[in-house]
Amino acid sequence: MAIDVVPQLLDNFAYLVVDETTRECAVVDCAEADKVIAAARGLGVSIVAVLTTHWHPDHSGGNLDLTAKLKGLRIYGASAENGRIPGLTHPVANGDTIHIGMLEARVIGIPAHTSGHVAYYFAKLEAVFTGDTLFIGGCGRVFEGNAATMVASLGRLAALPDSTRVYCGHEYTEKNLRFALTLEPHNAALKASHEAALRARADGKWTVPSTIGDEKKINPFLRTDSAELRASLKRIDPSLSNNSAAIFAKVRQLKDSF
Ligand code: ZN
Ligand code: FE
Repeated sequence: MAIDVVPQLLDNFAYLVVDETTRECAVVDCAEADKVIAAARGLGVSIVAVLTTHWHPDHSGGNLDLTAKLKGLRIYGASAENGRIPGLTHPVANGDTIHIGMLEARVIGIPAHTSGHVAYYFAKLEAVFTGDTLFIGGCGRVFEGNAATMVASLGRLAALPDSTRVYCGHEYTEKNLRFALTLEPHNAALKASHEAALRARADGKWTVPSTIGDEKKINPFLRTDSAELRASLKRIDPSLSNNSAAIFAKVRQLKDSF
């Protein structure tokens, strides 16, 4: 298994992305260094890099501890986070390529949750790490941008191949899908995903990963074109305009207080 989930804090995920040929690995987002180091040791792999999705402490708070404990560690993150990523050694921007052993990741700029939020896309692994921008069945709050910025960022992720597995920053799935059902109660794929999430959580399992193809079927923030979703929103706000940024903003506003 090239990708390993390492739970962090209450509901955060760090991930180890392993190059099986060199036994080198990257950590995507680290809040608690010791748990990540122990997981790598358990797999017999060595951590050579950190891929930080955004500056928030639950995604980067373990960086300095990792640097202190691991020699020569490279820490990647966006220069557009404006110096807020602890221990940053390799500033990146949209379109950059990163190598971990023989693995290759592309940086995708997806601002709005933070000004320099990025995703890391491993085409050969068919995997994308989306931090707090795209969750399973949801998206991050818009803290450093506006609805149009977030719509554009989500669009960049939705443009990846449907088979791409989505590894997000938090286990928020069950609540996200419960909210989504209030807007699309007749969406069969959504109902099935919510039931699967309930079962997974009852069994103590994670819901990651999802796929881009599945997210297009269940994630209300990628479904601003859905007739049922639009009808639900218009019942709540008859004056709502039809453009996708306005629809997105309304869904985001409702979710913020769900
Ligand atoms: Zn965040
Ligand atoms: Fe977070």
